[in-house]
Amino acid sequence: MYRLIVVNDEDDQWRFSLTPAQFNVLRQCGTEPPFRGEYVHHKEDGTYTCAACGNELFSSQTKFDSGSGWPSFWETARPDSIETRRDQSLGMVRIEVVCRKCGSHLGHVFDDGPAPTGLRYCINSVALGFKPKHRA
Ligand code: FE
Repeated sequence: MYRLIVVNDEDDQWRFSLTPAQFNVLRQCGTEPPFRGEYVHHKEDGTYTCAACGNELFSSQTKFDSGSGWPSFWETARPDSIETRRDQSLGMVRIEVVCRKCGSHLGHVFDDGPAPTGLRYCINSVALGFKPKHRA
């Protein structure tokens, strides 16, 4: 017996393809608890991708330990990997980071990162996927 699920709304589509924790962060601009994410202390070589659409976001070569409890990077994988938006929620002015390809919320970027960029992309672990570098 088949059950037909009609998905006729963009929000419903994301609810269908993401876990509840992913949906909360990626589609509702939530923030995961610090120090618990799968990729906080992850050190493998490879590329971090958008958990919603697979867009390549950050290289492991630009990942650093910020002590914040969230995966942190000082540069994006490509200049057009992400886009930024001014975020005035929670009584703060922050710069939101969203996936350029699908518009999902990833985290925020701050200007207290390390050289050479001085940027700290503070990204929710649950918003990320990971592709290990191919070893020959
Ligand atoms: Fe995406």
